[in-house]
Amino acid sequence: MTEAVAEPRRKFRLEVRGAEKFIRSGYRLVGKHSAVKICHWTKSALRGGKHCYKSWYGVESHRCLQMTPSLQYCNMACVFCWRFHTINRGQPFGGDWERPETLLEALIEEQRRLLSGFKGNSRVERRKFFEAMLPTNIAISLDGEPTLYPYLPELIRLARSRGMTTFLVTNGTMPERLEELLERDAEPTNLYISFYGPDKETHLRVNKPLIPDSWERVWRSLSIMPKFKCRKVIRLTLVKYLNLKAPEKYAEAIRLATPDFVECKGYVHVGESQKRLTRDHMPTLEDIKSFASELKHFTGYVYAAEDEASKVVLLANPASPYYREARKRLSGLTNSREEGHMDAAISCGESV
Ligand code: SF4
Repeated sequence: MTEAVAEPRRKFRLEVRGAEKFIRSGYRLVGKHSAVKICHWTKSALRGGKHCYKSWYGVESHRCLQMTPSLQYCNMACVFCWRFHTINRGQPFGGDWERPETLLEALIEEQRRLLSGFKGNSRVERRKFFEAMLPTNIAISLDGEPTLYPYLPELIRLARSRGMTTFLVTNGTMPERLEELLERDAEPTNLYISFYGPDKETHLRVNKPLIPDSWERVWRSLSIMPKFKCRKVIRLTLVKYLNLKAPEKYAEAIRLATPDFVECKGYVHVGESQKRLTRDHMPTLEDIKSFASELKHFTGYVYAAEDEASKVVLLANPASPYYREARKRLSGLTNSREEGHMDAAISCGESV
């Protein structure tokens, strides 16, 4: 079993520290290094409201399990991340990692407990409530870097065997884990690689890596991406005055990785990121649209959709095997708007 090879030698820990802080924020800890949290969009969809913009790919938000198998454990400390950057963020878990067979069931049970209060809610249809008790998608992205979890291939395969789809969001610093997913027939349904700096200097400023060779590692992951047959997405989280620039350089990464889709997403001033950035760092949807339009020019990708609530513009690769399916689905969807609620602008994987 490959361990977290990207980690420099440092102390280990056996538990999540400062757990109260996570619990106060709505997380429920499961086992020693995992957690689940009900997504804003899961609640919204349950109450008959909007689904998240991942409905572009077929996700039903009320049936989504947002989880992490690597709580508090990441090898970067991105300035825009809305999660807690605890002092031991880069410290590997030193005990026996828990196996997906016990973890997945426990995560689903915890999600059910968290949602149980919706049963008597007059705004929640009974059918939807019972559907939510049986999640069909796992968003592996809540906190920390999920590719540091050594049993990730087993987790994805287990979810698949239960008929669930998986959305894996990675910061791209573990190319060896991506290779392992390929070798072990463990491709997720959607593979996201987050790419945040058009050049090394910006990457270092924005991602604040805790490992020495993160830039090179991310590029290795980008070069592996074309080997995946699943739906592939590059996520750009764009921060005004920091990395919302140089579309021609982002285009180089996109040409190498040839994802099916590119999500251009504006930074949202929420959570712990408020300690590091100001509201002025938030681009408007117009800023994102104009950046996306330049990116289109440099990549040959085409405009596919936008979501005002999540401040994201989707570009699609017209040569992708997923293009027609996406076009068909998108034509039946409306743009989601939930202005006034900042949580609505956050979606899973925002930190990575
Ligand atoms: S934003 Fe992510 S976690 Fe939330 S419902 Fe959509 S896919 Fe699931």
